[in-house]
Amino acid sequence: QAPADQHARVVVIGAGQAGLSVGYHLRRLGLTPGSDLVLLDRAPSTGGAWQFRWEALRLGAAHRVHDLPGMNAMGLRFDDADRSRPARDVVGEYYRRFEQHYDLRVRRPVTVTSVTRIGDTGLCVTVRAADGGTSRIGAEVVVNASGTWGTPFVPWYPGRDVFRGRQLDTTEYRSAAEFAGQDVVVVGGGTSAIGFLLELDGVAARTRWFTRRPMVWSDTAALDLESAVAAVDEQDRAARAGATLPSIVSGTGVPVTRRIRAGLDRGVLRESPMFTRLDETGVVTADGEHVHADAVIWATGFRADLRHLAPLHLRTAAGGIVVEDGRSVGEPRLFLAGYGPQASTIGANRAGRRIARQVMDALAGS
Ligand code: FAD
Repeated sequence: QAPADQHARVVVIGAGQAGLSVGYHLRRLGLTPGSDLVLLDRAPSTGGAWQFRWEALRLGAAHRVHDLPGMNAMGLRFDDADRSRPARDVVGEYYRRFEQHYDLRVRRPVTVTSVTRIGDTGLCVTVRAADGGTSRIGAEVVVNASGTWGTPFVPWYPGRDVFRGRQLDTTEYRSAAEFAGQDVVVVGGGTSAIGFLLELDGVAARTRWFTRRPMVWSDTAALDLESAVAAVDEQDRAARAGATLPSIVSGTGVPVTRRIRAGLDRGVLRESPMFTRLDETGVVTADGEHVHADAVIWATGFRADLRHLAPLHLRTAAGGIVVEDGRSVGEPRLFLAGYGPQASTIGANRAGRRIARQVMDALAGS
């Protein structure tokens, strides 16, 4: 293997909530950003995946972003943010101020294309810059915090290849205006699908909503909290077993905000059981009903974006990586932040602190 172009003690892949949280704690524990701590992100700007979310998405009851550690000390709180502004702008701006304040020196836009082993001594991170040039960074420890936005999941249904209308996933949705006057089918039981349906109401000619399971609406915050704990436990079990990870929202139920309540009352949020196939002009239900569609929006979730870790051969037959408390069992020099039970902004925060401590222990031992 060719020698690395640069050496760092720790490389963090991704500067979303998880990567920034780890970076903040590692800096507090004594690493210097830009030299022994290198943070890399392929996106053009600050905000992690939030910078790509659709214009209409706002921070509010259904979308609550927890403050990054150290943010309140800067006088910043997401709860005080202007809710009339798109979430992508607010989060992007707050993260930018955070990165500057703590001098985290995130390198962007640079894409990590692979992580490989260098004998027994460390890991090598191969990076592609915007101009296509590649370079290699040797590291004692790698923290992967690459999120899920890069790998939307669309399930296979017969006829997906014959449908003549438009099909798109959550990452491709921009605004309801693109569907003015159209018949739109929305698939998926999470907050993205709900957000799309509410936004399309009155803009699209007709919408129909299909989900695999009946929706569970949660009316009280207490109930929601209880089920969230169960959902996180389930993710933790999956991560320890190396299985693909279930969605958190599928376990928690969706809190009924005022906006959702209005949508339920208007009949906009009435789901049908998942259709069985698509044809050229729409979808066909189990009862044989044909639903015409100009567009099908697949708001069907995400998988962890781990493609660059493929050379480490950590994937199990079940599709995941075996992770215990944020650390890969198969490659102890690799940590995964924001993975599995940590895949929410609060989970990412907690992961940051725990992983940073473990990383420092690993460095002391190496
Ligand atoms: P991301 O924000 O995705 O950050 C990962 C970063 O890694 C990105 O900046 C990306 O550019 C970078 N990256 C990826 N691959 C590479 C690579 N190969 N090389 C270099 N860089 C790379 N959670 C909440 O707590 N509250 C909410 O209201 C909420 N709403 C959500 C709404 C939607 C539509 C979705 C999809 C998720 C939502 N979540 C919400 C979950 C949310 O994604 C997480 O809470 C959190 O923002 C994820 O942070 P992260 O750092 O793990 O990932």
